[in-house]
Amino acid sequence: MHSIAANISILRRVVPENVTIVAVSKTKPPGMIMEAYASGQRDFGENRVQELLAKKDILPADIRWHLIGHLQTNKVKYIASFIAMIESVDSFKLLSTIDREALKAGRKIDCLLQIHIATEETKFGFSIEEIKEMLNDKAFHDLNNVVVRGVMGMATFTDNFDIVRREFRQLRLYFEELRQAYFLNNPYFREISMGMSGDYMTALEEGSTIIRVGSLIFGER
Ligand SMILES: *Cc1c(COP(=O)(O)O)cnc(C)c1O
Repeated sequence: MHSIAANISILRRVVPENVTIVAVSKTKPPGMIMEAYASGQRDFGENRVQELLAKKDILPADIRWHLIGHLQTNKVKYIASFIAMIESVDSFKLLSTIDREALKAGRKIDCLLQIHIATEETKFGFSIEEIKEMLNDKAFHDLNNVVVRGVMGMATFTDNFDIVRREFRQLRLYFEELRQAYFLNNPYFREISMGMSGDYMTALEEGSTIIRVGSLIFGER
């Protein structure tokens, strides 16, 4: 097996310069995160608030932490002061809670709208109809402390790349549709977070701007 630094440099060679690599460090110890950090990696992804807080406390302050897992509204207050991006926004209730906590923390928080594109029922996320409904509602436009930067999605867990490609393509079409209809003069709405260790090449081909890679960097969980 390669070192973490080697895995990252291999990944950087194939991923375009303008694509953000989020190193998904969930379940991995701080020492491994520091190895990635030493090779220049700054964006890290965690899916559980408690684990994120424990790591954040002892790791460098210039790490950009991405929350990538389902977030309960009552936990937002613990991360509002520092989180770089919340990629897993899946309800208006959550978004408005983030807005309120961002105001209290005196900052704006970057968010992605998670869209359900997989066939599995278990995965979180808005339907496209729910997002449109939210964006058409005046209440959404009263949120001044969240910056909606784009969309996030997870493909079906399958080794059939035709299915995965179709889902990523759909996510990109949703992104374009939302951009045209709601964010046309908004330069912040530009991110499509899709692609993990097993499918990031397909995601890049379909227009991903953020990939979230865990096991390929840190090894199997
Ligand atoms: C765990 C996780 C990843 C990374 O998965 P790997 O297959 O290890 O790359 C990406 N996105 C989300 C939302 C995850 O929970």
